[in-house]
Amino acid sequence: MLTIIASPGSYIQGPGQISRLYGCCLKLGCKRAYIIIDKFIYENYKENISSGFEAAGAGFEMSVFSGECSEREIERHCKSIGECDIIIGIGGGKTLDCAKAAAYRLQLQTVIVPTAASSDAPCSRLSVLYNDDGSFDKYLPLPKNPDIVVADTQIIAQAPARFLASGMGDALATYYEARACLRSSSQTMAGGKCSMAAVTLAKLCRDTLLTDGRKALLSVKQKCCTPALERIVEANTYLSGIGFESGGLAAAHAVHNGLTSLNECHHMLHGEKVTFGVLTQLALENASDEEFEKIVLFCRKIGLPTTLYELGLANVDDERLLSAAKLACSDQDTMSNMPFEISPADVLAAMRLADSISRSIQQGRCDK
Ligand SMILES: [Zn+2]
Repeated sequence: MLTIIASPGSYIQGPGQISRLYGCCLKLGCKRAYIIIDKFIYENYKENISSGFEAAGAGFEMSVFSGECSEREIERHCKSIGECDIIIGIGGGKTLDCAKAAAYRLQLQTVIVPTAASSDAPCSRLSVLYNDDGSFDKYLPLPKNPDIVVADTQIIAQAPARFLASGMGDALATYYEARACLRSSSQTMAGGKCSMAAVTLAKLCRDTLLTDGRKALLSVKQKCCTPALERIVEANTYLSGIGFESGGLAAAHAVHNGLTSLNECHHMLHGEKVTFGVLTQLALENASDEEFEKIVLFCRKIGLPTTLYELGLANVDDERLLSAAKLACSDQDTMSNMPFEISPADVLAAMRLADSISRSIQQGRCDK
């Protein structure tokens, strides 16, 4: 049996690391960095980033990300790269995916710097492309993972709490999807079967969320870097990143991709929609009441949506939900990695059941 474990060359996590990016370029033998950066980070951390390069007399250029990781945006950066010999992406998941895609097209090395622990994208050899209107376009598989991933916990502690919670929703899916791929013996994103390492990291990821998730969320609300936050940053970014890529995706992310076609959900973050995907997958698997209750209560504690109402779909009719379910079951998606046949009608029924179970679990959110 073929198993493949994919990971970044190095994963660096700690406070203040954003000022040391020049050292990463040096390690990789590069001289001039092209930095794709979120507008907010550019406005607030420009000096922290540039100081290291300027002190070393090294060249760099910063280009602010447009907000959508689309073919058009990737092309724009590829055209303005000039003499730069390495791409650094600093910001949220879409910025990082754009940096990875541009580096791949230009055959350059990449340093990836997530400024929130909001998804498991940073470590992966994958970019998710969207259309300019925000709807899902396609997965762009890359030949290698980022050369270095740098998580500056001091910056991540300043990010909105909702981003961290969303990252936990994304990370929560990792174990359930890897478990499905293990059962179905499906091929993972890394190209082999689910390995022992991947499923173990995925399980550690889920257990860490359940143990430290709430404390980490409260830490971010106080803008404090605590041991719980550090553990959740590692879970959301590294454990989930390796876990999903080498463990495989299944129903939860397929449902997420289906939901991106519904305008009412466009304001929801990736991990928030994935959370509902996890609950839908549990409904498809006919999970026990205990498992449902554990997950729904955890999600409520950290403010993740568990009902159609909370996703903005209070009045959605079956026809529209079925259109999302059909997309979730399309050939290009990962629904087929589930260990049994699933039709769009099954997905629709599972979404309705997940919503209904969540509504029936009456305990309120602990953080509100
Ligand atoms: Zn995800």
